[in-house]
Amino acid sequence: MIAYLGRIVHDNDAESKLDDDVSSISKSLDLQGSIENGDVSSLASKDFGGLYSVKPLFLIKPSGAEDISRVVKLASRTSNLTVAARGNGHSINGQAMAEGGLVIDMCSTEKNHFEFLPINGSHYIDVSGGALWEDVLTRCVSRYGYAPRSWTDYLSLTVGGTLSNAGVSGQAFRYGPQTSNVTELEVVTGKGEITVCSETLNSELFFGVLGGLGQFGIITRARIKLQQAPDMVRWIRVVYSEFEEFTRDAEFLVTQKEGESFDYVEGFVFCNNDDPFNGWPSVPLDPGHEFNPTHISQTAGSVLYCLEVAFHYRNSDHSTVDTAVNGLLGRLRFVEGLKSQVDVSYTKFLLRVNRAEEQVKANGTWDGPHPWLNLFVSKSDVFNFDRTVFKTMLKDGVGGPMLIYPLLRSKWDDRTSVVLPEGEIFYIVALLRFVPNGPSVEKSVAQNREIVNWCIKAGLDFKLYLPHYQSKEDWERHFGNRWSRFVERKASFDPMAILAPGQNIFRRDPSNIIISREF
Ligand code: FAD
Repeated sequence: MIAYLGRIVHDNDAESKLDDDVSSISKSLDLQGSIENGDVSSLASKDFGGLYSVKPLFLIKPSGAEDISRVVKLASRTSNLTVAARGNGHSINGQAMAEGGLVIDMCSTEKNHFEFLPINGSHYIDVSGGALWEDVLTRCVSRYGYAPRSWTDYLSLTVGGTLSNAGVSGQAFRYGPQTSNVTELEVVTGKGEITVCSETLNSELFFGVLGGLGQFGIITRARIKLQQAPDMVRWIRVVYSEFEEFTRDAEFLVTQKEGESFDYVEGFVFCNNDDPFNGWPSVPLDPGHEFNPTHISQTAGSVLYCLEVAFHYRNSDHSTVDTAVNGLLGRLRFVEGLKSQVDVSYTKFLLRVNRAEEQVKANGTWDGPHPWLNLFVSKSDVFNFDRTVFKTMLKDGVGGPMLIYPLLRSKWDDRTSVVLPEGEIFYIVALLRFVPNGPSVEKSVAQNREIVNWCIKAGLDFKLYLPHYQSKEDWERHFGNRWSRFVERKASFDPMAILAPGQNIFRRDPSNIIISREF
């Protein structure tokens, strides 16, 4: 069979036979799951970004780790096959694709694990790597009244997909990213070995895989820390005309002790005009709320800033919420009169972007291309970034949210594969472009490149989040003094460079020597 696979990878004439042969390959692999022919129109050749499309050889729907191990071992016996785990395909730049390779649909393993674990007074959930965070939320809260502590804004993402990056939202200032909230993983390495790892067991693999861009193993199970879920959330937006006051208040909130601040802190930049997607109408939390621009000073610039916060409470605490929230708001310097607030259930709050997805899908924008750019920018450079990028390059908006909020480096574990700017406080910047509402795809891609090039040229202390680079030099610069550790981890856990080829960091080499990809 290996000879057969080697042949079809090289021989296009054999493609017509693929459909017939899929079932014989499936049989010889003895998979509990199934195999489908890789088709350009299949989900394996697409992602949310909509900028790249490559044709895989097969799409595998495994039933669990054993199947995945068999697939990786099979690839390792060929000279050129690669394997990409595909979470929910919400990458932007083809990171979950494998040209001519084997794509593993992790969502088909979703139902395999779901185990609530009370251990020594703490609570955890064991879930499969292909589980969607929205299912983890609804099952944990409805069955047990518990929930993970650290989230992403949008929950139709897989556990393995976000743990391979970091997983960041407005809770990360307190609990760190999702990678700081797992205690054990089961991983299929690039050698096809099924390995359980944690801080104390196979720790190099554990920390390598967290933020490892899928390079060292496929996460088939994760143990996630839980906390008691609140019943309700007071969700509030306030507006600033000055970046200095916005950052002062955001940094104040993220550096307070637990119990003395909000439970969620984010922020975004919007245009100082009435554009429905980029301007004032993007602020109110409820269609019944109005944005009254007469509150904005005449001297305000082309962009304004919105601080978004949330306060958790239980139904029984309802009477004390006003006092606690007003006490916190009283310490902030937002523009008087520009506040929007609603009370929603905890699950409704966490599913807020999923609800927005339904609305955006209705007008067809969701399925178009998304040339998104995400960065971490050090506090020391964030004013320069605001002046040059937000106030100048992006003063007309990007056709979608432009997020910016502070995070604390001390909440991230340096042993993981994630790389961050220096300094304790840094900002996540997310340019979430929806093309029909903003510049064209070409212009957006060019603008993203211009922003990154400017950051490099101006010597900013920054890193790309969900990075996408084209050359070895760029990847080396991205990882900086962590590059050698990244390469060593690759040599240990995926020496033939089989895994996650769509990240374009390493290329599969028939001689089994790891070579950074040169384009
Ligand atoms: P995929 O895109 O399918 O895969 C991403 C990478 O991880 C690929 O290289 C893939 O091979 C690898 N991979 C996938 N599964 C596994 C696995 N089980 N084991 C090992 N490697 C694996 N990110 C945030 O941090 N915060 C946010 O608030 C946030 N919001 C988002 C909102 C939207 C609408 C979208 C589209 C994305 C958002 N993201 C956010 C980005 C998201 O974290 C990434 O897209 C991430 O890749 C997860 O998506 P996925 O599960 O679909 O993984």
